[in-house]
Amino acid sequence: MSSSMQRCTDRFVSDAMDRLEMDEEMRLVLRTPYRVVEVELPLVRDDGGISVYTGFRVQHDQNRGPFKGGLRYHPSVDREHALGLAQLMTWKTAVVDIPFGGGKGGINVDPGAHSERELERLTKLFVTRLGPVIGPEVDIPAPDVGTGAREMGWIYEAYAKWAGARPGVVTGKPVEIGGSLGRTEATGRGVCHVTRWACEARERPLEGATVAVQGFGNVGSHAALFLARAGARVVAVSNRFGGVHRSGGLDVEALFSATAEAGGDIQLHDATEGERLEGGELLGLGVEILVPAALEGVIHPENVDDVQAELVVEGANAPVECEADDALADRGVMVVPDILANAGGVTVSYLEWVQNRQRYRWPEERVNGELEATLRGAWTAVHDRATSLDTSLRDAAYDLAVGRVKTAIDLRGF
Ligand code: NAD
Repeated sequence: MSSSMQRCTDRFVSDAMDRLEMDEEMRLVLRTPYRVVEVELPLVRDDGGISVYTGFRVQHDQNRGPFKGGLRYHPSVDREHALGLAQLMTWKTAVVDIPFGGGKGGINVDPGAHSERELERLTKLFVTRLGPVIGPEVDIPAPDVGTGAREMGWIYEAYAKWAGARPGVVTGKPVEIGGSLGRTEATGRGVCHVTRWACEARERPLEGATVAVQGFGNVGSHAALFLARAGARVVAVSNRFGGVHRSGGLDVEALFSATAEAGGDIQLHDATEGERLEGGELLGLGVEILVPAALEGVIHPENVDDVQAELVVEGANAPVECEADDALADRGVMVVPDILANAGGVTVSYLEWVQNRQRYRWPEERVNGELEATLRGAWTAVHDRATSLDTSLRDAAYDLAVGRVKTAIDLRGF
């Protein structure tokens, strides 16, 4: 986690604690992680050599249910990074009111530098070393940056070796071995739902509204696709190679198919009609709705004045730094915070876990219906609070989340 992300999450939480008039002891309890696990991972390479990595799992809070959160494979993963993201998961699961706490972890490995067999060995070794620290009633990992359904399948198998076949140990699995229908699309679908509700609240129709989406990976590509299908005019999208802009609206279906066919990022500009965008140009376009769905900290004090959108929906985790958030609020820009806007993924992870416990597969329509109902409940609670107290959606979301975790601690005791 970057220092700005950590600093800003700390500030949002502290502000909520102030508003909730929380005492010092409770503040300390809510900030301190329940358990931090760090394991040595000596990986036997295909050529017989050994590389040593470190695996982390931080369990922040479990008062509302088992720890829940992703596993990231990236060289930048460390204890602090996992700690910050674990805390964010506690607030995210609380704001959408699903019965989970917050956890996060990963390995400080560059997955691109290893063969598939090496990654399988490394993942299974990680599970072995974590031992009973994870489990369907304890801590349920999920995919994050650098991991996907494949790694979740390996985790399921490594855990089953000593605990028996319990698919609820991990979510985001391949559908063939207990993954949920609708999980892959869930975060982008949720981004589209909250965008629609935010438009309704602002009495500005989503139909015909101009939208720019930064990031065309899992979250951004699905968000763009669902927004276009809902009638919005998606005029710009981008990925790490650059972006494409067309004021009449992009052919998002074509961009989505081309990206899916390539199995990852493509030169978007080559795949459809439109002008090429460089770097952060997309963020300053004259659109009504901006969806940053790539990286953290992309809207900061130096570029916040360039943002022209009236509505910002945080598809990524922490794309808006807190000082920039203040500036947007001063200008009357509505920001739908990450812990609400991108909670569709963890919500369907919860539905996957429920299906695994039932040993039953729900049809996709049921999954999508439950997702929409859960997010709608969260949106209504957050929006009603923000309206009645005249605060931002972010403040309202943090108040609800921090308050709910505190209530769980009060009810359960120590
Ligand atoms: P991903 O790796 O599938 O996609 C990331 C996209 O961002 C890629 O298209 C990449 O090219 C693009 N990108 C990277 N650098 C860029 C740049 N400088 N400018 C423009 N685009 C750039 O990741 P994802 O799963 O879509 O996650 C994106 C964000 O959403 C992350 O912050 C992640 O933590 C968050 N998130 C993801 C989920 C989920 O279910 N996948 C759920 C909640 C939050």
